[in-house]
Amino acid sequence: MKSMSAGMQSRLALFPVLLLGLLGLAGCASPQPEDLIDVRTVLPEVRLDIRYATANNFTKQVLYPEARCILRREVAEALAKVQADLKRLDLELVIYDCYRPVAVQHKMWKILPDPNFVADPQQGSRHNRGAAVDVGLFDNYGKPVPMPTEFDDFTEKAHHNFIDLPSGVLVSRQNLRTIMEKHGFAALPSEWWHYDFLGWQRYPLTDVPFSSVSKPGWF
Ligand SMILES: [Zn+2]
Repeated sequence: MKSMSAGMQSRLALFPVLLLGLLGLAGCASPQPEDLIDVRTVLPEVRLDIRYATANNFTKQVLYPEARCILRREVAEALAKVQADLKRLDLELVIYDCYRPVAVQHKMWKILPDPNFVADPQQGSRHNRGAAVDVGLFDNYGKPVPMPTEFDDFTEKAHHNFIDLPSGVLVSRQNLRTIMEKHGFAALPSEWWHYDFLGWQRYPLTDVPFSSVSKPGWF
């Protein structure tokens, strides 16, 4: 039998090195709970109404370059469970806001430097950690479910303890809260639409732009 050529020997010697390299790459790409992902990676059809990507918000300015909902993977996966439970009640989520880069928090603070309405960028918002969502409900006819107020209404009517509301609205607010809490979210007393993911402290304030987070189907 002919002995292997020197060239073949060196190619064979390279093989384990290449294999290790590939495994290493795969290791880097393996999903981590703290990854920032586009929510449509886990909820391809979810209804988005990302107000800060339009001028239809309290600042009257477009603050996001794209209407996307980006969250920590663990948070997005919990939201997918919320959606599954809501569908059993012939309801579905509408998402108003998710991860918000710290740079945008600074812009908001410049417009409205009042900690009653906007988180001071020095402390940051849980949205800056990719661990908070602003959500409402739609019914299975594609209509918004009446809630106590519009999104980002900074009056007492938006508080969870405000009860001078039609019974249907109280039930809808509670349905949303019960299902969000079941999957690890905590309600904010002053905003019926805002939910923090429990353990949000694990995630740092972050300032990566939307464009650096892959869109669904991209690798
Ligand atoms: Zn919020």
